[in-house]
Amino acid sequence: VRNKRRAASEIGVRADLVRLPPSATLDETLREVGRLNERPDCDAILVQSPLPDGLGRAAERRVFDAIDPGKDADGFHPINVGRLVQNRPAIVACTPAGVMELLDRSGIPVAGRRAVVIGRSDIVGKPLALLFLHRDATVTICHSRTPELPSVAATADILAAAIGRPGFVDRRFVKPGAVVIDVGINRVTDPAVAATLFAPDSARWASFERSGAALVGDVHPEVEQVAGALTPVPGGVGPLTIAMLLRNTVRCAQRRAGLAD
Ligand code: NAP
Repeated sequence: VRNKRRAASEIGVRADLVRLPPSATLDETLREVGRLNERPDCDAILVQSPLPDGLGRAAERRVFDAIDPGKDADGFHPINVGRLVQNRPAIVACTPAGVMELLDRSGIPVAGRRAVVIGRSDIVGKPLALLFLHRDATVTICHSRTPELPSVAATADILAAAIGRPGFVDRRFVKPGAVVIDVGINRVTDPAVAATLFAPDSARWASFERSGAALVGDVHPEVEQVAGALTPVPGGVGPLTIAMLLRNTVRCAQRRAGLAD
């Protein structure tokens, strides 16, 4: 939240933080979202997930669904998701949008290429697969029940990993020269896990030993040796996600002012 607010203030967007107590009920949370929906000086709303454990997952869906689709900075509302499915102008989920921005700004073509997405979550895997599809890639979506995952992944010209398992994608998953997008952000504190990811004489191992923790992606660092391009973690998709959140925020404001589709 701090990063998002700082980034917002840097581009002159005022970001108000509405902090509800951990004991807030579903009704109280929905009332707060309703108030923000009605406020004329509020262009975009983001509900920071996860909500308190006590509310449960079904409640989270109700809270997200209660956001005015025109103020849906995250692009999670079913109306925005439906518009994305139909390839109509929509507020698109930030992380998948960031991946496309990253590819475009790196001059990496998508049309006609084979894209494999590992992960089928509503917030990353599915919308990312749709974005690839709308850009004329041939798309395969993989998940925890996909048989022979490494060999399916190795058919990809562009491989995106959004799994949530540190270093899961190793060199067996990667066709030499493929573009690899590492969406995963995992905090590793177990030295045994860190030792499978970082060489003992590397700067990352030294940093892990100093701080006792490291942020790592879903892609094993050894993939750097086979991939044609690889996004780093941290510092790859993550910052783009925040940038896309701000773009969505500005877009919501423009649409409310009748200046954008
Ligand atoms: P999620 O909702 O937990 O979904 C994970 C997906 O990975 C599921 O579809 C799951 O398959 C699949 N999966 C899990 N284990 C697998 C396995 N062994 N083999 C194949 N597929 C497997 O996670 P998410 O919200 O999409 O996030 C994924 C990762 O991206 C996390 O590390 C998260 O922190 C990170 N993330 C980063 C950003 C960013 O800004 N960079 C933003 C959002 C998320 P099933 O559906 O079959 O269970």
